[in-house]
Amino acid sequence: MGQYDTYKTRVLTCARWLSENGYFGCRLSSGGNVSLKIKEADLIIITPTNKPYHDMTIADICVVDRHLKQVEGCLPPSIEMGMHAAVYEKRPEISGVIHTHQDFASIFSIINQPIPALFDEIVLSLGEITDIVPYALSGTDELAKNVSLKLGNHCHSYILQNHGALVLGVDIETTLKNTEMLEKSAKVYYYALTTGKPLTFTPQSSIDHFKRLRSPK
Ligand SMILES: [Zn+2]
Repeated sequence: MGQYDTYKTRVLTCARWLSENGYFGCRLSSGGNVSLKIKEADLIIITPTNKPYHDMTIADICVVDRHLKQVEGCLPPSIEMGMHAAVYEKRPEISGVIHTHQDFASIFSIINQPIPALFDEIVLSLGEITDIVPYALSGTDELAKNVSLKLGNHCHSYILQNHGALVLGVDIETTLKNTEMLEKSAKVYYYALTTGKPLTFTPQSSIDHFKRLRSPK
């Protein structure tokens, strides 16, 4: 058993759940990626590029160092590792990052409308807004830079314009839960918008309350 196998298993477990539940856009595709940061070793454990999740084993999960040099893994790491690394660099309280092509969040990636605060539990877990990150080509430094410029709002979810979603958490299991909560929020907001009726949002006093609870200690 390798020294990082426990971490790799956690990443693979999350990736499989996301794939089996359609979060990568198509159940048979390899879109999206999952990573966790081992802070004490300054390493990132990340899914490989271009490998269907139903075939993936822990031997396929990659380990990269802070310079994105591959330390372990028989396949190349995700092309989005620069985006994951940008999150860990800018948000030291974060230890799990998930990028998906999930359906309802993707709707907001093409209408370019942020998802506001809708429910207490969403504000507590994700923050007061799921903002839009401007488009850049997948896997580029420009996309990582565009993400980095939005991270200062200290929220835990973002929509990548014409692409998908990016979700953060204090560990990978929390990030997985946050990813499911984002999809619930996007789904409910989308259906609510289609009614054409006036919507109500979480009051600012509640947003401020949850912001204090979510602040990095
Ligand atoms: Zn993608």
